[in-house]
Amino acid sequence: MPGFELFGDKERKELNDVLENGVLMRYGFDGMRNGHWKAKDFERELEQTLQVKHAQLVSSGTAAVTIALASAGIGAGDEIIMPCFTFVASFEAIMMLGAIPVLVDIDDTLTLNPEAVEEAITPKTKAIMPVHMCGSMANLDALQNICKKHNLLLIEDSSQATGATYNGKPLGSIGDIGCLSLDFVKIITSGEGGVILTNNENYYRNSDHYSDHGHDHVGDDRGAESHPFLGYNFRNSELHAAVGLAQLRRLDEFVAIQKKNYNIIKEELSKIDVVTFRTVPDGGEESYSFISFFLPDLETTKKVANAFKTEGIDACFHYYDNNWHYIRKWQHLVDLKTLYPLSDEVKKGLEYLKDKSFERSDYFIARNISCLIKLSWTEDEVRQRAKIMAECIGSVVD
Ligand SMILES: *Cc1c(COP(=O)(O)O)cnc(C)c1O
Repeated sequence: MPGFELFGDKERKELNDVLENGVLMRYGFDGMRNGHWKAKDFERELEQTLQVKHAQLVSSGTAAVTIALASAGIGAGDEIIMPCFTFVASFEAIMMLGAIPVLVDIDDTLTLNPEAVEEAITPKTKAIMPVHMCGSMANLDALQNICKKHNLLLIEDSSQATGATYNGKPLGSIGDIGCLSLDFVKIITSGEGGVILTNNENYYRNSDHYSDHGHDHVGDDRGAESHPFLGYNFRNSELHAAVGLAQLRRLDEFVAIQKKNYNIIKEELSKIDVVTFRTVPDGGEESYSFISFFLPDLETTKKVANAFKTEGIDACFHYYDNNWHYIRKWQHLVDLKTLYPLSDEVKKGLEYLKDKSFERSDYFIARNISCLIKLSWTEDEVRQRAKIMAECIGSVVD
């Protein structure tokens, strides 16, 4: 997945444009920048590539989720339904606004289980936030129907699946708002960065202003701009945007490489009876950033994960025991270990985590291994890797 594997002349050229005229800030300094507006160009190209009316570049994927929610007016005491298998950023971004993350089970798509979502809806629920984990997607048709029925917002986090599509549309362009990350390990990277995607004029304007201290960005005198509401600084720099722009232009190339590598590994693993693969919803086309499969039980999965390590098969994750991606290791969230006092509303809103179990998710995560698909492998390396993976599994199950 990481786009940094293939950094080259294109990234350098865009970056040098910025360094040569010296304007590292995305707003203002019109006279000095010799026509270089990397953040703006990046946003326009994101809109085209990801098929939305508006893209707003910000400082991180985590910030993108916070801003997306804030833009839609979500805040204190509001409940957001999210999966218990994701990156910690999902609940961090929600809690930043004093809102309450409501964690629910996933299914064999490794993303939100629509039934579990429906069970979790209360009068305080404002949005459903599927996280398209490991290069594939949630069942967006089912989730959209639930949102319509209960009048909720659909906010997609496609940080790990940029380049994937659902019914022919890019992930992130389907919900009311989409969020993606451009951090250093994502399929296209700008070092650090995030993007808010939306067709909604109002959410876009709010994201634009909120991510820059409330600046309304009217006119060409930054100091004279007005502030229709309070904001914050979640800006990204021209340096980051320049790299992101070059990487975005290579997204199709990256997805094609991943698909080729993924298929070689999938073909080899398909020959093993006990291996099954994650479900990709009908109409879905993955970004092929990971290959995710299930083994028969927890014990077997642990042994296979260890065999992979011993045999040098890196970048394979057994998320059951992972500190960053699965509820089992989020005791800091359950215990509300914050540096500062939380509101009583949030404390009360998160009490459910003390005794909620996630058996439906354990059933899948305990048996799942997800392996990163790299861009820099040669075909021989992928074939060799696939062979070793199959041998590791064979040695454990026989
Ligand atoms: C990487 C990631 C984020 C956060 O992105 P940052 O840019 O690192 O803040 C959010 N959600 C998911 C699913 C991610 O993988």
